[in-house]
Amino acid sequence: MARERIALLGPPGAGKGTQAKLISDKTGLCHLSTGDILRDEVAHGTEIGRAAKLHMDRGDLVPDKLIIDMIHERIAKTDGFILDGFPRTVAQAEALLKITSLDLMINITLSRAEVIKRLSSRRVCRECGKIYNLLFNPPKIKTRCDLCGGELFQRDDDRPEVVDNRYDVYMQATAPLVDFYRERGLLREVDGAQPTAVVLNRIMDLLSG
Ligand code: AMP
Repeated sequence: MARERIALLGPPGAGKGTQAKLISDKTGLCHLSTGDILRDEVAHGTEIGRAAKLHMDRGDLVPDKLIIDMIHERIAKTDGFILDGFPRTVAQAEALLKITSLDLMINITLSRAEVIKRLSSRRVCRECGKIYNLLFNPPKIKTRCDLCGGELFQRDDDRPEVVDNRYDVYMQATAPLVDFYRERGLLREVDGAQPTAVVLNRIMDLLSG
């Protein structure tokens, strides 16, 4: 595979987490998700978790410094990686430049209406983290994971009252990264409204290209 330092960009619900897991399984690249790391810190009641929770529950971004300090080491010590949910601001993108360079930034696009629909119907397995969608990728039993039987839950920040704010925050703070990476010749776009397998094939083509 030609490209080994990859990041996924796109609004919440575009499928970054789902695709990052699939790509990691196929390629062995290390999946680094700042959202997953933060949720783990919250679940363990750590200092980072306590500092982040308030922002996350409102659908706001966690302050840049906390995020950069948290992810810096993990990126620096990993050869091949797929970043999911980082960078999310221009300040984070500039910090990343100082840690390492990217081979590719893949922007998974999705309309606002589709984002709202997807996030409200997203469910996650408490045990293995597999992501479902009650509308277009439902589990066989509504409340249980097909793979491990774990309980499915709705993320706090997928509640309808938070979802609108997350999209606005994305447009304001994260969307400017599209131009940031386009100007550097690193941006590729994938239509996130397509079925999961189609999006995955397109990304795999980009990685080997
Ligand atoms: P995600 O799972 O990527 O949707 O992230 C869930 C939440 O974690 C976001 O809504 C933010 O509150 C926080 N978060 C995750 N990654 C970042 C980041 N790179 N910068 C700031 N906040 C983040």
